[in-house]
Amino acid sequence: MARDRHPLRIPGRKTDLEIKRWIDNFSTSFCGAKWYNATIWLGSGMTTSCHHPLPHHVTINEVNENYKALHNTPHKKNERRMMQNSERPPGCEYCWKIEDIGRDNISDRVYKTVIFSEEDITHAMHADYNDDVDLQTLEIAFDRTCQFACSYCNPAFSTTWVTDLKKHGPYTDLQSDGRGHYTHEHNSAQLFKPTEVNPYVEAFFKWWEADLHKTLIELRLTGGEPLMSPHTKRLIDWFIEHKTDMVFALNSNLGVENKKIDLLIEASHNISDFQLYTSNESMGLHAEYIRDGFNWEQWTGNIQRILTEGSVNGLHVMCTINALCLESITEFFDWMMQLKKEFGRNYPVFTINILRFPSFQSPLVLPDELRMHYAEKIDNWLEENAGDHRLHEMEINHVQRLIDYLDVVKTPHSDTFDMPALHNDFKKFYTQYDQRRGKNIADTFERIGAWYSEL
Ligand code: SF4
Repeated sequence: MARDRHPLRIPGRKTDLEIKRWIDNFSTSFCGAKWYNATIWLGSGMTTSCHHPLPHHVTINEVNENYKALHNTPHKKNERRMMQNSERPPGCEYCWKIEDIGRDNISDRVYKTVIFSEEDITHAMHADYNDDVDLQTLEIAFDRTCQFACSYCNPAFSTTWVTDLKKHGPYTDLQSDGRGHYTHEHNSAQLFKPTEVNPYVEAFFKWWEADLHKTLIELRLTGGEPLMSPHTKRLIDWFIEHKTDMVFALNSNLGVENKKIDLLIEASHNISDFQLYTSNESMGLHAEYIRDGFNWEQWTGNIQRILTEGSVNGLHVMCTINALCLESITEFFDWMMQLKKEFGRNYPVFTINILRFPSFQSPLVLPDELRMHYAEKIDNWLEENAGDHRLHEMEINHVQRLIDYLDVVKTPHSDTFDMPALHNDFKKFYTQYDQRRGKNIADTFERIGAWYSEL
């Protein structure tokens, strides 16, 4: 397997659109992530090919027999078959929705394919879809321990969310949230206690020691908050001890105590390619409201410290686009541009992921007038900034597709188009969120708060 860190290189085809056409020439639903990328939650034994499709379960028997089953599930193999035949796996609806907007929108299918070499992509296009495939990029979470309880997260990914439900009970009167994000503690997300042997963690380390550490070009650790997991240190120590050109990326909320940031800074000097991922999508008090536990001063201060004192090959800011963040998203883009000016165009690189679940937090629940106001504001921002060499083509495309999404897409998800139910849930959820967390949506968000008050 070729280990090529450069984007898919096809002579004469350099733009994202040209690369998309090259992929589509084989299959209009092909995506390299289905073969070479995975997110695996070891606490629950769940896997998915990227963060858009809902995760599915891997049985303990499967991983006991074959540790590669952590990624090569019958479900994914069937999706690979579909993708070789231009059929669209329904779980990848996020990408189909973006592509169906038209306007030559580039979905993540393309961005998740260009990561890999032409040789490997060509191999995946023609290989037996039942073959086990070695991962090249992997995101893993050891457990769901997290000190934050963000509004768009839920107990499956945060122990602080579990505490909220234990203390106050389920959120009530939600009509559209068929997946019950906020109605139970999601105990299936953490199948084993910290003192118990977790067969999924065992399988991961078996695979890691056998050959995973050779085939991966990037390992990304997520959570929960990975800096709170005891297994994280084992991996950090491995990277410090071994010479490798593999990227080691950590996805942290950066809301941890100073001594953990100190350790991160120190480790960054001893890991050859260390990259940091973090999340946010709005400014100051807006961010603190949306992401309960987040502290703007602490987050921005830790970023400054890490970029100044550490040795980081890239800072990635992942923006999860929910309705509320639109109120200060362009100011947040400005803040990121300022950081790029200070530290270079890769500090940060940002991605824009449009939230689909829970649907009532989607930007599409906003009334047309507000949605168009924000679309226009973002459009103006892009017009002013598109010529700035610090912006990557991918970042420009992400901002453009957000504008198009706000402009064109009418429902957050095909099975959730009952707008009155979404408005009911917007009101009911944030009312209870405010009571439980000591917050006030109407005081925090000027325009959306006024709309909320009239709902
Ligand atoms: S959702 Fe898109 S990027 Fe993710 S695996 Fe499916 S096609 Fe690829």
